[in-house]
Amino acid sequence: VYNSGLSRAFVKEPEAAEPRCPAPNGCGGLGRPVSRATLEAHAPPEACRALSEGPFYCPAPGCRVAYFDAWGAIVTADRITGTAYPKDPGGPICPCFGVTAAEIEADARAGRKDRVRDLLARAEGPEAHCERCAPDGRSCATEVRRLFSDTRARFP
Ligand SMILES: [Zn+2]
Ligand SMILES: [Zn+2]
Repeated sequence: VYNSGLSRAFVKEPEAAEPRCPAPNGCGGLGRPVSRATLEAHAPPEACRALSEGPFYCPAPGCRVAYFDAWGAIVTADRITGTAYPKDPGGPICPCFGVTAAEIEADARAGRKDRVRDLLARAEGPEAHCERCAPDGRSCATEVRRLFSDTRARFP
């Protein structure tokens, strides 16, 4: 009795904090929780109404689902207004300042750090409006840093 109780406790899966992008339209990847303000800044009102509270963003570049909720309702990427990086690889990586992923990659390949440094400094200041501008509502500094160091690693 002691053993079975113990193993049940250990076997129990932890509660999924980030629901998966719903199939068949979605990719099954992990979503990022977004605020209502972020959702409403990127999707038309009738699309927002279809999603319950606690919407998620799917960051997978090739996935056609942009936002979804825990009940499987979706907003597809083609309905998103404004920028949609990484859904649109040509879109600005930092919607606050209009810098594209291609520019960050070119700087990284050239070993040029001044623009990225300047961008990261501004991303922490009052000019940044990531909650409204970035489709996942997160600071674009995170994505800029990641892209820059990933590119540096590929082109040392
Ligand atoms: Zn997805
Ligand atoms: Zn930003």
